[in-house]
Formats: sequence, C-alpha cells, structure tokens
Amino acid sequence: MIYFDYNATAPVMREAREAWLDATEKITGNPSSPHQIGGRAGTALREAREKLAHFLGCHPADIIWTSGATEANNMVLHHFAQALDPAKRDEVWISAIEHPCVHESAKHYFGKRTRLIPVTHDGVIDLDWLTAELADARPGLVGIMAANNETGVIQPWREALAICRQYKVPFFSDAVQWLGKMPAKGLGECDFLSGAAHKFGGPRGVGFLKVPHKSHVTPLLLGGKQEQGRRAGTENVPIIVSMLAALEAREKQLTRSEHILRGVWRENFEKQLLHKLPGSTVVGAAAPRLWNTVSALMPDGGQQRWLTKLDKAGFAVSTGSACTTGKEEPSHVLAAMGFKPAEAYRVLRFSSGWETTEADWDALANALTKVHAEVRHAKAQAIA
Ligand code: PLP
Repeated sequence: MIYFDYNATAPVMREAREAWLDATEKITGNPSSPHQIGGRAGTALREAREKLAHFLGCHPADIIWTSGATEANNMVLHHFAQALDPAKRDEVWISAIEHPCVHESAKHYFGKRTRLIPVTHDGVIDLDWLTAELADARPGLVGIMAANNETGVIQPWREALAICRQYKVPFFSDAVQWLGKMPAKGLGECDFLSGAAHKFGGPRGVGFLKVPHKSHVTPLLLGGKQEQGRRAGTENVPIIVSMLAALEAREKQLTRSEHILRGVWRENFEKQLLHKLPGSTVVGAAAPRLWNTVSALMPDGGQQRWLTKLDKAGFAVSTGSACTTGKEEPSHVLAAMGFKPAEAYRVLRFSSGWETTEADWDALANALTKVHAEVRHAKAQAIA
C-alpha cells in the first residue's frame, strides 16, 4: 500500500521507535516517586519538557502532557468554562473549520455562546471579520487552528494572535497539523496551544497543551498532583520521550528545507490531476497550504466508490477528517467554505509525508486516471 493519509496519522519514525524502546527499557520508575529510579524518570520528563519548550519558544513549566490533542483541546474549553464569570455571559469565538474536538467541546461548555469565525471560499479565516467584531465585543477566548486537517490550508494565526493581543483577548491555536510539517518556532507565543505526537511521527495517545506562563489551569482530570496539579495521572515517560524524538527529527529535517522540494512534487501532482481528470479542482488552491496535503474535488462519483477502488489499487487515501469518515453529514469545513453537500461528497484528501516519494505521487496520479475511467463506466452502466 502507498500511504496518503498522514493527516489522519503518520507512521512512527525510526527515531521515535528507538527512543521509546530505549526509554521503556531504562526508565522504569514513576516520575513522582522519591527514589533514584523515580528520579531518573523525572529527569527524562524534565528534559522532554525543556526540549518541547525550546522548539515552541516558551517556558518548560508552561507545558502539560496529555493523552493527545482531543484531551488538550477539551482542557482549554473546560478551563474557560470554569474561569469565565458566568454572570458576564462571555462568548468563545472559534473558527468554523476547527476539528470536531474543539467544536464539540465549545458547544458542550458554551452552547449558544459559541460564535464561529467565518472563512473565505479558500478556507482561510476572515481576519477582517475578526478585527471588526473585536472592535465591538470581547469574547473570553479566540480559537483558530494553525493549519486545517482536511484542506491543509494554513491559517494566519500569527496575525490573529497579534489582533487578539491588541484587544487583550486570550488566543488559542490547535497546532496539530502544523507541527512536524512546518517549523514550530513562534508557536509558543500563543496563550494556549495543542499538539499530538502521532501526526508528526511520534506514538499515538500522547500530546500536550501549552498554557500561559504561571497561569492557573483548571484540570479536566482530577486525582494526583501531577503536572503541577493541572492534569492528574501518571505520565507515560517513554511515549513522551518518543514524541520529542520524533519532533526533534522532524525539526532537523525542516531546517534542511526538504519540505520545499516535497511541495514541488505535490504541485506537480496537482497539475497532473487537473490535466488528466478534467472537471477536478483543488480545494483552497489559492490559499497558502501545507506542502503535504491535497484536497481535491473529483469530477465524478461518490467518495466511497473512489476510496474502495483506490484501496484495491493499493492507495490509502481519505475523504477528509478521519474522525468524520462514515458520518452522514458532509464535512463542516467544506460547508463553511461554501461547498454544497453534493460537491463535498466528491472531495478526497491525499496527505503525504516525509516518506512519500515523487514516484508515489506519480503512481497516485496514474491510479486516479484509471479509477476515474472505472467510476465513469459504472456511472454510464447505471444510467443505461
Ligand atoms: N486537531 C486536529 C486539527 C486534528 O487533525 C486532530 C486529529 O485528527 C485532532 C485535533 C485530534 O487529535 P487526537 O485524535 O490525536 O486527539
């Protein structure tokens, strides 16, 4: 199988696997234990925290380890639900294209006090809307992801952060799809920031939340006093160490700018797609996008038919967010961009990674041409 679903989860990198094996063997204690064995685990945890803080540009104490981005994002909304004065009826403003774990928790904790920041047809949040609305009202929190998981469209999080600073509104960014694909530097400026290891070559089930320095964060999980009382539960040191090994390896590769060349391969694929499959379009084509992602509106047929045929042909691709696959409703991201449900059901997502070759992209373009002929044939037979 050729894997084009990195935005759902990425293969574990060699560096991460080796770091996990090594840590599992050598770091056997609980980092909260008072003896030397616990101390070794505590040291490994401290070093991992320092490494992540260095990449993000924040203080090590600002990092809370979590089970992934879903937990981290839930923590942010939960925290604000506790921290904001209910009498003031503060709103939270989140972009209309956030991952369901942000949408659902905002809906859960804030209900109708959740406002969606609109996006353009290319899937970029509307900064003018944000500036104009902030001139009149002050939400308790603004949340804008760094890059979208379905389209790969990069969001102007730096600009949004600067606007929020001006109005003294806390700013939160879900950086899950950015980390490992773009340099992490500067992300630590966001008041709240989340990440998940498995999207950048680390293990599944581990992530983090970065919070403002010396702030009190209401824990979502209650129990022990781990993570300075902000997240109860014994830290899984080997997977945290492994997560940092993956991020370190990706950051090293990013400094060599190899992703620029990968972006060229992706562009060449898009050219082939548009040429070989007349009627296809690239979603968010005019916007800055992650070098790895293509969200394509296919000329014919439903997503499921394409997926099945491509799977049979040896290509693992997706319809968009893995979390919404199988659901009846069309993607909320595409809906927010103004796509009609009938169009949204024709969108496929191809997300490559650091192990994808130029030949893989070419093979995918050829497979799509073949599958398209089959899809059209099946459609013609159905009509006849
Ligand atoms: N945020 C974004 C943008 C994502 O793409 C995902 C996963 O698809 C998540 C959050 C949730 O991450 P996890 O499933 O690792 O908790």
